[in-house]
Amino acid sequence: MEKEKILVSACLLGQKVRYDGKSKEVKGLIGLTQFFDLIPMCPELSGGLKIPRPSSEIMPDGRVLSKTGKDVTENYLAGAYWALSICQIYHIRRAILKEKSPSCGTHLIHDGSFSDKVIPGMGITARKLKKAGIEVLNEEEGLSLLKSLTDGKKSA
Ligand code: SF4
Repeated sequence: MEKEKILVSACLLGQKVRYDGKSKEVKGLIGLTQFFDLIPMCPELSGGLKIPRPSSEIMPDGRVLSKTGKDVTENYLAGAYWALSICQIYHIRRAILKEKSPSCGTHLIHDGSFSDKVIPGMGITARKLKKAGIEVLNEEEGLSLLKSLTDGKKSA
């Protein structure tokens, strides 16, 4: 039987796509392959940004600026567009995204001061997916989803 497809931030699956050329692997998430086909995606790369790149944050006025002062809003919007397109092509209804990222943050983002302060908010891609009706989860919620599915399988 074909499994449901789920979009996942590529860095959470160990791909070295972050601004600093590293990943943010959450090893447990690979367990979701028991239940889903995981589709890795990095909106920042799809939006035309490179590895490595300066870190970026969402400003209070909604623009995305890199630490070096470059306006990269268009790249972020393009990445969000591609992420949504992939969801539409593959009928994806759920995404697991890296918390605190200006693209992928689902509940928290940095505050725009480049001082490591986080505030409630959503990244550009997370916001676009949610607006389109796609359920967006962060990595912790992804692990909870896996636990509840695994527990359900054991008790079935
Ligand atoms: Fe990871 Fe998303 Fe940042 Fe790409 S844009 S590195 S997938 S958090």
